[in-house]
Amino acid sequence: MPTRIEGLCIDILGLLTEAEMDAFAFQRTAGVACPPGCGSCCRDDHPEDSVLSVLPAARWALTMGMEEHIERAASEQPDGPCLFFDLHGRGHCAVYPLRPLICRLFGFAAVRDKYGLPTYRPCRRMEGSSAWASTPPIYADLAQRLEQRYPPLGSQHLPINQAVFQAAQWLSLRLPRPRPATRRGQVRAPGSGTHPREG
Ligand code: SF4
Repeated sequence: MPTRIEGLCIDILGLLTEAEMDAFAFQRTAGVACPPGCGSCCRDDHPEDSVLSVLPAARWALTMGMEEHIERAASEQPDGPCLFFDLHGRGHCAVYPLRPLICRLFGFAAVRDKYGLPTYRPCRRMEGSSAWASTPPIYADLAQRLEQRYPPLGSQHLPINQAVFQAAQWLSLRLPRPRPATRRGQVRAPGSGTHPREG
């Protein structure tokens, strides 16, 4: 039985996957693609997203004991590069299956113009046709659907390192606390030290 936080993360990931499928469909029909091995958007473009959108990635990072890395990135590099980029020195995203909405749609989505009509926004580094044969997913519409999953976190849009920090703070008040070692090399018995607000 998933806890409420697990359920929320599953729900978020369902919508993120749907958005990514739309982006793939557009990518195929429009013939646009990222340059091979490019990670410039993660490094140089100051990605921003909602605290809700980064919740699954932040949850994974906490389970990996990355609190200090998150705090350092938020305080020393609040506007990027993304704290998950190039974590292992291979130029990759460390949370690729959990990455937030902006990362799935960047370069493959439209914004609405002042008349409400979708306008495709390619990445300036992209290769491929600029003529597009199908309507790209519309970022604002998907972000709004995501926000509706949990408005207190969905309405907070921040640079990604700050969003992850806020998500980690929110989660750490609600997830079970790590079991402290009682003696060197030992942990407390299962069931002890569990935070009551989980679930
Ligand atoms: S979460 Fe991953 S894809 Fe998104 S900006 Fe960070 S490294 Fe790049």
